[in-house]
Parts: sequence; structure tokens; C-alpha cells
Amino acid sequence: MKNAIPFHPNDEKRLDALQSYAIIDSPGDKDFDDLATMASILCQMPVAFISFIDSKREWFKFHKGFHVSEIPLSQSPGIRTLFEINDITIIPDLKADKSFKDIPIFTSQPYLSYYVGVPLVNKEGYLLGTLGLLGDENTKLSEEQKGALKILSNSVMDKLELRRQTISQQDIKIAAIEQETGNTISFSAQTIIEQSPIPVIIFRGEDLIIEAVNQPMLTMLGKKDDILNKPLLQAMPELSGQHAYDLLWQVYSTGEPFNGSETPVTLIRNGVIETHYYNFSYTPLVEDGKVAGVIDIAVEVTEQVKVNQIISQLNEDLLNANRHLTASYDDLDKARVMQDRLIFQLSQSELKTRLLISDAPVGICVLTGRDMIVETVNDMMLGLWGKTRIITGLPIKAVLPELEGNSFFQQLDEVYTTGEPYFGTDVQIFLEHNGALIEGYYSFVYQPIRDHLGHTESIMIVASDVTDQVIARKQIEQAEAKLRLAVDAGELGTWYINLENQEFIPSQKLKLLFGYYADEEMPFDMSGNYIPEAYRGKVLELIDNAVKNDETFYAEYPIIGVHDQKLRWVRAVGKSYEATAGKPAHFSGSIIEITGRREDEQRKNDFLGMVSHELKTPLTSMFGYLQMLGMKARKNGDDQAIKILERAEKQAVKMTSMINSFLDVSRMESGRLSVHKERFDMADLVKEAEDETLSTIATHKVVFAPVETTIVYADQDKIGQVITNLISNAVKYSDPGTTINVACIKMDGMVQVSVRDEGLGISPEDQKKLFDRYFRVESKQIDQIVGFGIGLYLCAEIVHLHNGKIWVESEPHAGSTFYFSLPLET
Ligand code: ADP
Repeated sequence: MKNAIPFHPNDEKRLDALQSYAIIDSPGDKDFDDLATMASILCQMPVAFISFIDSKREWFKFHKGFHVSEIPLSQSPGIRTLFEINDITIIPDLKADKSFKDIPIFTSQPYLSYYVGVPLVNKEGYLLGTLGLLGDENTKLSEEQKGALKILSNSVMDKLELRRQTISQQDIKIAAIEQETGNTISFSAQTIIEQSPIPVIIFRGEDLIIEAVNQPMLTMLGKKDDILNKPLLQAMPELSGQHAYDLLWQVYSTGEPFNGSETPVTLIRNGVIETHYYNFSYTPLVEDGKVAGVIDIAVEVTEQVKVNQIISQLNEDLLNANRHLTASYDDLDKARVMQDRLIFQLSQSELKTRLLISDAPVGICVLTGRDMIVETVNDMMLGLWGKTRIITGLPIKAVLPELEGNSFFQQLDEVYTTGEPYFGTDVQIFLEHNGALIEGYYSFVYQPIRDHLGHTESIMIVASDVTDQVIARKQIEQAEAKLRLAVDAGELGTWYINLENQEFIPSQKLKLLFGYYADEEMPFDMSGNYIPEAYRGKVLELIDNAVKNDETFYAEYPIIGVHDQKLRWVRAVGKSYEATAGKPAHFSGSIIEITGRREDEQRKNDFLGMVSHELKTPLTSMFGYLQMLGMKARKNGDDQAIKILERAEKQAVKMTSMINSFLDVSRMESGRLSVHKERFDMADLVKEAEDETLSTIATHKVVFAPVETTIVYADQDKIGQVITNLISNAVKYSDPGTTINVACIKMDGMVQVSVRDEGLGISPEDQKKLFDRYFRVESKQIDQIVGFGIGLYLCAEIVHLHNGKIWVESEPHAGSTFYFSLPLET
């Protein structure tokens, strides 16, 4: 053995040398098998192998006693034993040797613990492999055996050298022929496939007998070299009917090559049926111009196909995903547009909400979370709270500490928990404004705002200050209470008549006034039977007028009690009201008993009547004496005495007139004023008044319009008294020098007398009370004018006794026109 070059598996020169033998992955070789088998027999060691080591693995050219065809370098016994030594390596107990104890090839056969390896070194000194043997623990090699092993290893190397030589000669030959013919020619099948680093198999003859197959092909097919020299379908019956087989036969029979790509082939590989994919080339093997067989060079691409399938599946998925994505993008795009729009709308609506909140005439705030953080609050609410915007972001409890202890925070908490809104109406709240607690009344709602899951997220408070309304209402309530007190204290009877359904609600006092019992039902009686006949018509007329014309009803009249038949004087004040929202049209008012006052007045009237009556007699005597003195003075020609007596006589006339008026009032009140109706011509009466006026009034210009004959049936004296009274008032209440117009016309079946002056005029308010007894307008001017306020009262009473009407049209400072009308005599 030559001196070996120190071994290194990656030594390029060593690898080149190894390559030159083309031994690695070469098919089985009987010569090598024989040599190794011989060594095994010689040394009586059951396991034998011939291995070659390249940069990655120890490949077994021959192995006997174990099944692997190669092992990685890390598990290589060859390396462990050979790279530092040049001679035979013997390891008597592998299990005791650290270097070998974990190598599976040995540990899998624990009874074989004796190892012997002979290095295979070429003539250049490169270590190529090992001739190795394994034996049991009883093995002990003799020197002869060791020698025999060396011879055998040299034989292996010789065989290798021979092989190298053959290869190089063939190369030269092929090159020469190729150069000469340019054609592919067939060589020894064995040689070709041995050179091929890729799987090759050669079929020959019609039966497609496997003439040659290299190890890569066997490995790929999962077959052993026992398939050699067998017809294809016998070696691999599973190929029958498969496309790959048909194609192979097609190439053999046609001579046309065929290249297959990613073709599936189902094989029984190592006992398992599997489908694999191959790229292959079927090349016809032409010998002597004939197709002798087919050379099949194939590469398994199963992984690739699977990867491709996965990739294409992935691609499909991806495509689908893309489609979805595209669709999704479309949707997304649409969604985005929608979202943009929504956001815009939202921002608009938010803006609106904010505007609404900020402009709202009520206080609005939004409290967020259980801590009730003031998130949004409008100016109105800040105003109610007496706070500035600085409180935004604070919990409500911190904003309104003055409410601590009240139920407000508890109610807010409940709204947050239950999600139910809470309403407060006219709630009295004391809020701090500039350090002072101010009382106010508020109506509010705590409205929960929910998130998309329905949980209360925040609470919106909408509150309005109703302090003014509450105070006003309280004032009304107080006023009503006072009124009730006044009604009770003043012993006012009240009534209410629903004009739509005639429902009548009298108060207890009213019932008593009308002579009913307090707990008794009082019927509504429009007939007025309880009013003495003398007053009935007038009262009913006033009521009717008030109801129809929405006017105030005011009347003093006697009523006779239903049960007790007692006469009571009452003063009634009522008003009719049009229907309004929630209230029907109704006529309501109050009645107070004035019997006592009427009795006082009666006494006063009686006294007045008595005094007037008593005064009348001496006055009449005085008149007589004055007239006698006047006659005597005229007889004596005493002009001065005549003038004085005339003035005295005028004053006496005035006094008589006054006394007569008082007497009339007295008579009127006691119902004793009687009228003596007769037929007469109003033109005559007005003429009498004109004559009297012209003789007595020099201060004013009194103009009498011509009067046509108008016959009436009336008390001539009393109607004359009315005309005189109206002219007298016109003179009294207008400036001297102004004109007074008197007219008497027929109109609508009535005779109408009017007296117009250019005087003080009368306000509408005073006009309403003008015909009341003792009424006088209150003014400085009028205070200076003598009067008792009974003239117009008497006029009105006289006109009413004639079923006539009396009224005034006047404006302050624009004069007045008094009218009265009487029915014509028909
Ligand atoms: P008297 O004139 O005695 O006061 P009357 O009953 O005649 O009483 O009049 C009542 C009141 O009506 C008067 O006090 C006066 O204020 C007002 N009055 C009457 N006639 C006129 C008139 N022609 N112009 C203005 N006021 C008048």
C-alpha cells in the first residue's frame, strides 16, 4: 500500500480522483461483490462492505448484512477509522468505543461488535473508501486473515483502476465516432447508464426487457436490481395500462422519441402503491438502423408537481381571493364612499346636533360613562348651572357639588344602570350662582344613549328653567286661594254655566241665596221665576244681552227664596266667555246679597222722600209769597225789587226741581214712581222745551231742529223732564258760547231724541256707569259743577218705564250726544 495523503472528505483533488472512477451511485458489480464476499468468508465476519466516500456521504458499493445503501458522513465508520491511518483498522469492541457507540449501522446489530476496516487508497495516495467487516465479540483476526484482507482491498483498487481506464477509452471512442458520423450510436447499455448521474433505464426488444438500469433509477422507482433482465411488465406489472407505459411502447414501435412532462406514474415503491410525477425522455435505441429498444431517462418531479399543484391551488385560491378582494375592494370602495358620505352626513348631523345643542333654547348636556363626565354642554345649560365651559371633562358631581345629598345623582346612576329615561317636572333645585344658593324650578329628562350593543354609554340631560312659570302658577294658585277666601269671606255665591251643554254649577252660597238647601240640587232656571215680576224682564234681558254679546252682566235685583219665600236683594256680576282650547263657552259670575244695603238705602230714600215732601210745602208757600211780592213791586215800579224777586223765584224753581228729583228717586226706589201715559205729539213737547230753554238759557246757542208730528203714548211731563234734564246737562258740561243741538226724529218705529253738545265728553269707562244712581265723573272740572248724580239715573228709569232706550255717544274733549228712544204709538 502506498503512503496515503492525509484524508479530508472535501479535498478537491481526492474528490476529482474519486469522480474519475465514476464509482459512486454506480450499479452493482459482481466483481466487487465477489471480493467483499470473499473477505467476509475469509475472516468469518457476517457483515461486509465496500464503501466510497465523497464530500457528503459514505456510499456502499457493496453491502452484506445490512440494508442501507449510504450513510451521511457524520455516521461514517470509514471516516472514523481511516482518515488518519494507512493500514488496517481493528476495533475489537465497538460498544466500548465512544466514536462508534452512536452510529446506527453498528448499534442496530448489537451482537456484532468487532470491526475491521481496510482503506482503499489509489495509486496517487488518495483515500477513496473502505473494505469493511463486522464480526461478533469472539472475532479475532489472524495475521493471515489481515494479509488476505489487504490483498482483497488491492484487488478492489485494481478493479477500480481498470474501470477508470475503460471509461476514458470509451470516451475517446465515442468522441471519435460522433465526430465521424454525427449520429448517436448505441453503446454498451451498462456503460451508458453507469455514467449517467440521472436515473436511466434501458429497455430492449418487444417485451421491453430491462437491459440496464442505474441506481438512481432504481432508487427512484423503489425497486431493486433484481428487475434487471426482466420484461418491464413482469418487473413492474403495475405499469400495465398506464399512460407512461403506452407511450413507451409507442416509442418502441414508431421509433419516434417522446418527452413527457410531469406525467403521473403509479408504482409500487418499497411495497407501497404511490403515484409520482416524472419528466422523462423516451429515446429509441437504434441498432443497425432498427429500433432495438428504448432509453428512458427520467427525473422525478413529484415534489415539484405537488408544489406546483399547491402553488396552482394557491394561485386559484389567490385568484379567487383576488376576485373576492377585487369585489371586496369594490365593496370596500363603495363602503368607503358610503363611509365618506356617512362621515360627511355624520359630521353634518353632528354639526347640526352641535348647533342644535348650542342654539337650543333648553339646557342640554351629555354625560359619559358611569362617572358622568360632562362631555358636551350648551350655553343654556351652563347658564342654568351658573358655570363656564371650563367644567367640560369633569364628573357632574364635581361640577354641581351643591346637589350632593339630593336624589339627582342617584337618579342619574339608575338611568345608567337600567337604561330607562327619567323625567322630572317642576322640580325645585337650589343651584349655586356666585357663591349663593339660588332657588329655581326645572323640568328635565335624563335620556340614556346606548352604544351598538345596547349598553348605556352616556346620558343626555335636557333641562328647562320653569321657575317663572312655576312662580306664576303659584301666584295664580295663591290668587285663586285668596279669591276662594274672598268668596267665602264675602259670602259670594258663584255660578258657572256651560253654554254648550247647559251644565250649571252653582256654589253652596248661591244655592242658599236662592233659597235652596246647601246639599240640594239646584236646577238651572232661565225663566227667572224667582225674580219679582217688576224686575224679571229687565234682568233676563241683561243676561241674554251679556251672553249673546259677550258683555258684562251687572244687575241689582230682588229674588224670592224658593223654600223660605224670603226677599233678598242681590247684586250680580257675570261675564260670558267664548270657547277656548280646553274650555267650552261659558257664562259665569258671582252674586252678593245686598239686602242690608238696600234696606239702608230704602231708609235713606224714605227719609229723603219725607224731607223732600216736607220741604215742598214751605217751598210752595215761599213761591206764592215771592209771586205776591213781585206783583207788588211791579205795581210800585220798583225795578230793583223786581230783579231781586225774579232771581229768588229762579232759585226757588231750581230748588223745586231738585226736591222733585229727590222725591222721584225716593218714589222710584220704593216702586212708587208712577207714570201717567197719554197720547201726545212729540213735536209739541220739544217746542215747549225750546221755548223754556230760550227763555232761561242765554249762555249757549241751543239749536232745535224742526220736528215733524210724532205721536207717542207716554207720560208727557216725565218725558219732558228727561229732555230738559239732557239739555240742562249739555249746558252744565260744556263751555259757554258753544252750540247745543236738539233733534227729534222717527226711526225704526221709534221716536229718537238727541241732545248734542261740544263739551267735556265722557270716557268709555264712565259711560258704562253714567246712568247709575249717584254716579258722577270724577274730575276737578266736574267737582266744581254742582250736581248729585241722580239726573241721568232718573232719566234712564223714566225711559225704561216707557220700554224705551237711553244711551250716550261721546269721546273725552269731543262733546257728547245723549239719545233716548220711545216706541211710537201704533
Ligand atoms: P249731575 O249732573 O247732577 O251730576 P247727572 O246724573 O245728570 O248728575 O249726571 C251724572 C254725571 O254725568 C255728571 O256728574 C257728569 O259727570 C256726567 N254728565 C252728564 N251729562 C254730561 C254731558 N252732557 N257732558 C259731560 N258729562 C256729563
